[in-house]
Amino acid sequence: MLPSPAGALPLFRFRGIAVSVHWTWFLVALYEVQTRQGLYRSPIWNAYEYLALFGIVLLHEFGHSLACRQTGGQADTIVLWPLGGVAFVSPPQRPGAQLWSIAAGPLVNAVLWPVLAGLSYLASRHWAQSAPDTVELIRQVARINLGLLIFNLLPIYPLDGGQILRSLLWFPLGRARSLLVATALGFVGVVGMAWLALHWESLWFGLLAYFAGVQCWNGFRHARALAQLE
Ligand SMILES: [Zn+2]
Repeated sequence: MLPSPAGALPLFRFRGIAVSVHWTWFLVALYEVQTRQGLYRSPIWNAYEYLALFGIVLLHEFGHSLACRQTGGQADTIVLWPLGGVAFVSPPQRPGAQLWSIAAGPLVNAVLWPVLAGLSYLASRHWAQSAPDTVELIRQVARINLGLLIFNLLPIYPLDGGQILRSLLWFPLGRARSLLVATALGFVGVVGMAWLALHWESLWFGLLAYFAGVQCWNGFRHARALAQLE
């Protein structure tokens, strides 16, 4: 249940990796840009902010794809959609290769964090009077990047944090049992996400919980099949 490259508009290729944007991304972009008013003096800055989010997500996904290639795995497609981005990667079935392919995504955000924080500090010191919208944009981009980093590191399978946990458990527990444990923990997280979605009345969070739940269920079934094979 991931966005298929078939429903996506091809954008460009970089190092043999085809990047495309799913059609639903444009719908949500329109909605976000029109409803998020008041932060900036001119609404065009909402569009810039959304494009910056696009850029950060793209860099994160390239982190996954290029790391996966390094391990000898296959990674040739990235699709962006409203819930973030999906790098279609298949690293070799070794815990170390899986760990590096997954960890490299959040690592991009971790590297961007001090850069954006520094930029944000400098901007607010020097341009607060002359270019308040630019300062606000940099501040928002820094916040978005940090938010993405923290969210992605939550140990809820299939989020990156959950998959990192799975790769780490793979070393002592093996391929099947590590996935069983990670997806079982993932279900707890998905229930928590669904509760938060109801609590905050957030459709976006509800969708996220739904897709995470479906992926977690698929992972759990895969783990059981692997366990039977072993
Ligand atoms: Zn990721």
